[in-house]
Amino acid sequence: MKVFVIGIGLIGGSMALDIKTFHPEVKIYGIDNNESHLAEALALGVVDSGASFDDLINADFVIVSVPVDVALTVLPRVLDVIGDNTIVFEVGSTKMPICEAVSNHPKRRNFIATHPIAGTEFSGPSAAIKGLFQGKTNIICEVEKTTFKLQERALRLFTAMGMRIRYMDPKSHDKHIAYVSHLSHISAFMLGKTVINKEKDEQDIFDMAGSGFESTVRLAKSSPAMWTPIFKQNRKQVMKTLEEYISNLSKFKELLEKEDYDAIYNEMHSVNKIKEILNGMKAP
Ligand code: NAP
Repeated sequence: MKVFVIGIGLIGGSMALDIKTFHPEVKIYGIDNNESHLAEALALGVVDSGASFDDLINADFVIVSVPVDVALTVLPRVLDVIGDNTIVFEVGSTKMPICEAVSNHPKRRNFIATHPIAGTEFSGPSAAIKGLFQGKTNIICEVEKTTFKLQERALRLFTAMGMRIRYMDPKSHDKHIAYVSHLSHISAFMLGKTVINKEKDEQDIFDMAGSGFESTVRLAKSSPAMWTPIFKQNRKQVMKTLEEYISNLSKFKELLEKEDYDAIYNEMHSVNKIKEILNGMKAP
């Protein structure tokens, strides 16, 4: 079996490592416009060989794991050159623009739109982790548009990686993910900005920052090259979540101004139920 990974970074690289673990006989080819990432992926054994788009005609699986703006042009190019039995999946953090970009492509039935909800704040092949997708959710959109036989092959692969599958339409995906992922990143970036702007002496931050600050601001280490096109593609939904978030922040500030500590207590108490929600998400 020949698997091609286009964009051999955190997500593509982690998938390559998993596939190598349970199918050591599979040959993994990497395509990346970043020469040093490709060299690193080869040196780390994440891929077996470099390749080009001309080689895709021989592919069994193609994983497209590039930033979401790049996916809009790369994905149709991939579908243009693959064979009839090749399955192509793409892992971007937005789904509507990507599904629309290939909706009328003659090879649309070879494509499966996915979003594995797994990752870290790091990028590139050195960030790839074996087992990253274990116990995580994979959102699949418009599954009915993919040939049944190819769907089954892709599902076997996702299940072997340990992922739970959720089916969703692209619009619902982009709406929900704006709350649980896109807003969290903006919140971390702006928290980091607020602290950096005020604490010009970075040593003070290191001396006083505890694990609470570190875990809350962790996502601010994420790649702007990956996140700018996500915010661009999901602008409307992200703006809506930001309005709600800003309104909640303003209300909290008003309560502090009014010294209404009962209301502040109740606000936090009602949000404590997030504990049960998060514990529920971890259930097998
Ligand atoms: P990454 O580590 O930065 O890897 C992406 C790779 O694609 C990089 O090597 C990048 O090179 C390369 N690339 C950029 N343009 C390309 C092109 N035209 N042709 C070939 N390769 C190209 O990013 P990632 O975190 O794996 O994210 C990949 C996709 O997964 C994104 O669509 C993202 O939305 C999605 N995703 C990410 C996470 C997460 O937590 N990170 C989770 C779920 C889904 P350069 O670095 O030089 O641009």
